[in-house]
Amino acid sequence: MTTVAVLIDHRAGVVTRPALEALTLARSLGTPVAVWLGERPSADAAALLGDYGATEVRAVEADARLSAHAATALGAASEDADVVVVISTFVTKEIVTRLAMATGAGVVVDAAGAAMVDGRVETVQTVFAATWNVRTRIESARAIVGIRPNTTQAVPADAAAAATLVPITVELPEIRERVTHVEPGEADEGVPLAEAPVVVSGGRGTGGDYTLVTELAELLGGAVGASRDATDEGWISHEHMVGQTGTTVTPALYVAAGISGAVHHRGGMQASGTIVSINMDPDAPIFEISDFGVVGSLFDVIPQAIERIKEHRAG
Ligand SMILES: Cc1cc2nc3c(=O)[nH]c(=O)nc-3n(C[C@H](O)[C@H](O)[C@H](O)COP(=O)(O)OP(=O)(O)OC[C@H]3O[C@@H](n4cnc5c(N)ncnc54)[C@H](O)[C@@H]3O)c2cc1C
Repeated sequence: MTTVAVLIDHRAGVVTRPALEALTLARSLGTPVAVWLGERPSADAAALLGDYGATEVRAVEADARLSAHAATALGAASEDADVVVVISTFVTKEIVTRLAMATGAGVVVDAAGAAMVDGRVETVQTVFAATWNVRTRIESARAIVGIRPNTTQAVPADAAAAATLVPITVELPEIRERVTHVEPGEADEGVPLAEAPVVVSGGRGTGGDYTLVTELAELLGGAVGASRDATDEGWISHEHMVGQTGTTVTPALYVAAGISGAVHHRGGMQASGTIVSINMDPDAPIFEISDFGVVGSLFDVIPQAIERIKEHRAG
């Protein structure tokens, strides 16, 4: 039996959708056990993890805000696991790198998928600004996979699993850093950019007016993205920047409005499922990587798209 430990992403005790995606992937690799760091999960949270196949919820009630501590806690809760799955984020990439160093496991982050092939984990991922697809086989007995949000569809298990709560006690190592204060940055309401299933981004072509981009994003239940030129202009905050120096996104749908498609921008969105672009310039490079392109002003095109979507939903 292959045991797959899944580090559960949660916000103040609420399980995130990417965590359910990770559990769904884990079921295809073996038997999932959930690893929960922080205050104990609620009964509802544990039941939800069971719905997605977690046979156990291993809860480490320790302050694991530093990656060194989180790696120790995850290691203690996944000692018997053949595979460890996390959702790839800035934070988890540091945690799993530490865990891999400590355990000698093979690690792949930013994977877009993983499968068990002849008893070893194989991953797929895009690299070099999504210009290459790479398949990697982890040869070590223990594998760690960081999976990108939105690359697996979260589907509940056919039959809910027990999700038995197993408290794990762990001695966290003395280290030279200490967290004295944590204050979340200003975050918009709604889905975080990196996890959003739909991203609608506006660039210099918006001229600084994000009303339509925001309206379309909200209508589609997505997040608002931006090019660096737009954030540098101060039209929208840097947290919205998509690209090489911004956030890498892999939504099912990416809409680029008034964005030329510079290589630095493409690097952060090229692996999206479907790319739709709106640009006045028919030769804009963004069209080279778009599944669907509209030549026109976003100020004409987006209102029509909004109207059609509303009409379609109405009936
Ligand atoms: C080291 C480095 C790192 C970088 N990292 C990033 C990064 O992470 N992310 C990023 O985005 N950029 C990054 N950049 C900047 C990048 O190279 C581009 O300059 C930037 O992406 C361009 O932004 P833009 O497409 O909004 O602007 P532009 O290139 O000026 O394109 C604007 C587009 O809008 C179109 N347009 C104008 N009006 C309209 C309208 N009304 N309707 C529809 N279309 C219209 C134009 O035809 C044009 O194609 C980086 C650059 C460097 C050097």
